[in-house]
Amino acid sequence: MPDDGACAHLSGMSELKKAKRRECEECVKIGAEWVHLRTCQTCGGTRCCDSSPNRHASKHARASSHPVICSAEPGERWLYCFPDDAFVEY
Ligand SMILES: [Zn+2]
Ligand SMILES: [Zn+2]
Ligand SMILES: [Zn+2]
Repeated sequence: MPDDGACAHLSGMSELKKAKRRECEECVKIGAEWVHLRTCQTCGGTRCCDSSPNRHASKHARASSHPVICSAEPGERWLYCFPDDAFVEY
């Protein structure tokens, strides 16, 4: 993992949590649709991005104080920290 000193959450990460399922776990409960998927690096849950109608990933990050997500989209290799607004590719 990169260590640029900008964000202690990202620089302290050692292991990447990958999406277990290619679906938003909140949207499937309510029958909603999503655009892109993000995986929480604290609990491993996969939820939808801010381009999706329900924005479950950022809602979860605020509600649970889980700071870091990774993209769960094929071919995208990046992490994002909500509280620090820090973005890093890997
Ligand atoms: Zn951070
Ligand atoms: Zn969702
Ligand atoms: Zn979480």
